Amino acid sequence: MDDKCFSPESDRARTLLAGTRDTAMKHLSQLLDTRGLHVTVLAGAMDRFLKSLVSLPREAACKTGCAWCCHLRVGVSIFEALVIFHEIRTQATQEGLAFLKQRILKTSDRGDTLDENFWRKSRCPCPFLNVDGTYHCLIYGLRPFSCRAFHSLDETVCRRGYDLGVQIQVPCFPLYRASVDLYSSVMIQVAAQKGLASFQVGFIRALEILFTDDTASERWLQGENIFLSAKIAEVTLD
Ligand code: SF4
Ligand code: SF4
Repeated sequence: MDDKCFSPESDRARTLLAGTRDTAMKHLSQLLDTRGLHVTVLAGAMDRFLKSLVSLPREAACKTGCAWCCHLRVGVSIFEALVIFHEIRTQATQEGLAFLKQRILKTSDRGDTLDENFWRKSRCPCPFLNVDGTYHCLIYGLRPFSCRAFHSLDETVCRRGYDLGVQIQVPCFPLYRASVDLYSSVMIQVAAQKGLASFQVGFIRALEILFTDDTASERWLQGENIFLSAKIAEVTLD
């Protein structure tokens, strides 16, 4: 979800964001030092971060069933991918797990899920979008920070981007967006500080790896560069 939005530029906004980022980094780093590098510890940290998020302002146009934005590439930290996969595996039934795995693999079969243009041009829905019914997110409570950060003040702009299949500037609350997005960067940076192969990855490619290799999570936590093939190299513009 990289469609453009104005960046927060005032000194006050920058100071606020830097303070939030530093506090979150310190908290996560200390937690991992004292409790160890385990998915359950990461899940606790992510939960705490989620609870600290400010609410999306009421003026935003977003509502349940509106999902033009769920046809875009989603970038996440590997910590997020691990936690979301762990929670899905813990909460879903065997049938539910098989269903989600099949959806993810089917989406990957359609094209290169790391390529933003694949999503835009093919109008491919996220495998977690319930396209058969109400167009709600099947993992709404678990969704990545980038999904939470993305919002719009005008649904018609989102729809125009979807219809045209191009990157478009979506009107938004930039400070809100930056204040939510920063947690993903915090997780990427702290993982790197702990010596892990850490970078932004494509959400669906990372889940494909996790769903098809039971050892991926543990091996990455032990320092292997398991998610290299899911790395998002750079933001591409049309
Ligand atoms: S970002 Fe746009 S497409 Fe997504 S829910 Fe909000 S208004 Fe709808
Ligand atoms: S995870 Fe949920 S909110 Fe995020 S793109 Fe997929 S369906 Fe949309």
